[in-house]
Amino acid sequence: MSFQSDLLCQEDQNYLLDNVDLNLFSDLQSNEETLSMDEIQEHKFNILKNIPTNGEYNGAKTILCNEEYNGPFGFEVDVLRPNGSKNSWVYSSLLNKVYMDMKCPFPVDFRVTTRPPFHLFIRITTTYSSPQFAQECVYRCPNHEFNGSPNEPLHMKPHVIKCNNPDTVYLGDKTQGERLSLCIPFAYPQTGTDNVREMFEFLCKNSCPSPGMNRRAIEVIFTLEDANGETLGRKALNVRVCSCPKRDKEKDEKDNSGKPPQGKKRKMDKTGGKRVPVAPNDLQETILKIPVIGKHNKDQILKYVQDLYSGEILRHENDAEAEHYKRAFNKITAMIKESSE
Ligand SMILES: [Zn+2]
Repeated sequence: MSFQSDLLCQEDQNYLLDNVDLNLFSDLQSNEETLSMDEIQEHKFNILKNIPTNGEYNGAKTILCNEEYNGPFGFEVDVLRPNGSKNSWVYSSLLNKVYMDMKCPFPVDFRVTTRPPFHLFIRITTTYSSPQFAQECVYRCPNHEFNGSPNEPLHMKPHVIKCNNPDTVYLGDKTQGERLSLCIPFAYPQTGTDNVREMFEFLCKNSCPSPGMNRRAIEVIFTLEDANGETLGRKALNVRVCSCPKRDKEKDEKDNSGKPPQGKKRKMDKTGGKRVPVAPNDLQETILKIPVIGKHNKDQILKYVQDLYSGEILRHENDAEAEHYKRAFNKITAMIKESSE
């Protein structure tokens, strides 16, 4: 059985061939008696070959839209609210945010109200929620990328999120600076339910150092797509990967009580151009003299500026501007060190 795809490298193709689960494609079930195993396999590979690699999430460093959109088929995404305290994840309805530790699986339910006669896919993209970092791609920190599970295929290593569905395709090339996403065929619900449940795990923490998440807030954008990558629905979920999910949830809720729900929604550029223009580079250095009360506030400001520069260094990693930001980053880092002594 051959599986030719222009979209996937040989390694990914082999991985799919070894891991595909026939039961997922229940549209084949009615034909099981008339189709041979080879025919079923071939049909299935044709579906996997069609996993969309274009559309809004084409790997480019564009700012992704995170505006909720039910679309023509009534796309809905739910995180299971755990009962009791034994679960490894907690969910805050107030913040639409899920909290869990690294390597702790958490379930997400997907459903549509009507099902079209063509194949549907769900794309999962992790992005920074703060507008200032929204254009940057989320990658694992070097420690978790290179010291992860030895059984993990190479192409999964830069991804911060993993889906336990064996048909998951991992898209995007970190070496090309591309945005990473996962794509799964949208399975049919089992008898007696409207939901399709998928399990996800994070493999890097928010607190991991740059070029990892480096304390930046993240969200996961789930998009319902057809084989052309056309978006047919979109939902966003705020996420925090940390060692103390319960404590952090309580702290976040307390800090946000009385404020509108977290995460400003970004609208896509309506002109159809997916690339958002970036302001021309301004490298002029300004010395600010501002009154700051308290060492803790001074440290926060320095840390914030350090984060800003680490983002700029990543953004300009392939051009000469990176040097300007590296110098500024080093200066701030020295000031932080001096302040902590
Ligand atoms: Zn990490």
